[in-house]
Amino acid sequence: MISQYSGISPKGDLILLQRIGEKLKGRSFLHINSTRAGGGVAEILHRMIPILKDLGIDARWEVIEGDERFFDITKKIHNSLQGNFENITEDMWQYHYEVNRRNAERLNLDADAVLIHDPQPAPLIEFRKSGKWIWRCHIDVSNPIKEVCDYLRRYCERYDSAIFSIAKFARAMGIDEFIIPPSIDPISEKNRELTDEEIQETLNKFQITKDRPIILQVSRFDRFKDPIGVIKAYRIVKKYNDCILVLAGSPATDDPEGEVVLNEVKEYAADDPDIHVLLLPPFSDKDINALQRRATVIIQKSIREGFGLTVSESLWKGKPVIGGATGGIPLQIVHGVTGFLVHSVEGAAFRVRQLLNNPEMTKRMGEKGREHVRKNFLITRQIRDYLSVWYAMENKGESVLEL
Ligand code: UDP
Repeated sequence: MISQYSGISPKGDLILLQRIGEKLKGRSFLHINSTRAGGGVAEILHRMIPILKDLGIDARWEVIEGDERFFDITKKIHNSLQGNFENITEDMWQYHYEVNRRNAERLNLDADAVLIHDPQPAPLIEFRKSGKWIWRCHIDVSNPIKEVCDYLRRYCERYDSAIFSIAKFARAMGIDEFIIPPSIDPISEKNRELTDEEIQETLNKFQITKDRPIILQVSRFDRFKDPIGVIKAYRIVKKYNDCILVLAGSPATDDPEGEVVLNEVKEYAADDPDIHVLLLPPFSDKDINALQRRATVIIQKSIREGFGLTVSESLWKGKPVIGGATGGIPLQIVHGVTGFLVHSVEGAAFRVRQLLNNPEMTKRMGEKGREHVRKNFLITRQIRDYLSVWYAMENKGESVLEL
């Protein structure tokens, strides 16, 4: 399987991955998150577990279970950590803990290394049995509501280490911290090359015409992704350029707000026949791939963003991206080189028009974007980094660094 990446991933990444994989062969590596479908974390885990297994590592992926109340609370925690105030009472925190306690009884938490993704399962640390425990934060905590951040911290500080996607998100927690950006898998159904027929199949399915420019945003229906802002930008563009807008999203089982936001978007789109709001079933990977390949201009107009896998997915397909200047997006969009960073609806509209009106420039930027992703945001690099953290946790030795 690793050999499938040769010629795609940087050779150095593959060498390091193999060597460190040999060191950890036969050891167990458990990942736990809160959904199997929808959102970037599940997207990565689906691809990462088989690769870890191929390296000879005994990798497992477990998902915590919770009811509506639990996911309502965890979404509020998520919103607060991303800076939108929500009142989280002691009672709610207790319930968060209680659901994790029940999950701890159900799940086998025995492993040499345990990687806990995001705040939903963070309290599992209280039920640690063995091995090294690492907390992985995927969300944008650049400007959190302090009390919520402080509460969660009580759990995070009990881990052996923490991983953030960008340096700006890291906090001084008194444990080892690492910066590891997420990644995409270039050979997955979401990102592999497609034939013209395969792309056409998807367009036919959604009744999208093939000869008009397409503006696309692929995202869960979440206010932090600013789908309404995308429609506003499209309306400005539409005054000058012919185009259609596609907003594609699927539900995530741990995101209870999706339906409300989808309805807001539909209402705002009104009866404009050139706006396609597509609610896709989970695992519509080939359709997303086709839409990204066919799009003329791709937007990710987020207001907060942990990383934004959709940006790397689009750059990998040779499309420059117009993205909100927030969270992990500036890591991927080098302004004026692999796309444009924007701060407003007007800014987004201006850049969309610039790309629509300059196909040559768009193509050149897209090529640079693909290389940027190849060097920095492929899954082989991310697995290499995770294994390095695990290895470092177990082999601390005498530190020469005063940290
Ligand atoms: N995605 C998808 N279908 C959709 C919307 C999103 O498969 O309808 C995928 C998208 O391609 C990406 C992931 O979900 O791989 C979203 O990750 P991102 O980091 O962009 O955002 P998150 O949802 O984790 O906040």
